[in-house]
Amino acid sequence: MSQYNTILLASDLSDEAEQVADKAMAVAKANGASLHLIHVIEPLSFAYGGDIPMDFSGIQEEMQKQAEAQMSDFAKRYNINPEHQHIVIGRPESEIHNLVKKLSVDLVVVGSHGRHGIALLLGSTANAVLHGATCDVLAVRVGE
Ligand code: AMP
Repeated sequence: MSQYNTILLASDLSDEAEQVADKAMAVAKANGASLHLIHVIEPLSFAYGGDIPMDFSGIQEEMQKQAEAQMSDFAKRYNINPEHQHIVIGRPESEIHNLVKKLSVDLVVVGSHGRHGIALLLGSTANAVLHGATCDVLAVRVGE
């Protein structure tokens, strides 16, 4: 009996993303589950937060184009079709939680650096996804 039907791989499309994707693929295969891929682009205005109004739309558009190209390359390597590729703008944890609900995802796969000390207190995306998740979360250790 399969445990999972719909798996969501959250990817920052970094060099380490393949370690996470390999695990997500293996779990999807073992369960005969469908695999979706999400990459979230954080708006530059989140990072800026200054008093002077700035127009980031041009840079934001360029970031989106780059992310689309990177995601398409990444997805090809894992045979993930375009309907299962999701690029969204927002905060990673919120957008991941939204898509989990929308697609009735039963497992989210994220990478985890297993940080300690102050970095752990500050939190990570894996922690943020786990908090408030309405389904199982698999945190794959990366970068070790
Ligand atoms: P971090 O806490 O930023 O080191 O990221 C840990 C994991 O969270 C990554 O391996 C991804 O699985 C996921 N993640 C981080 N940033 C994003 C993003 N922008 N979009 C989707 N998933 C992300």
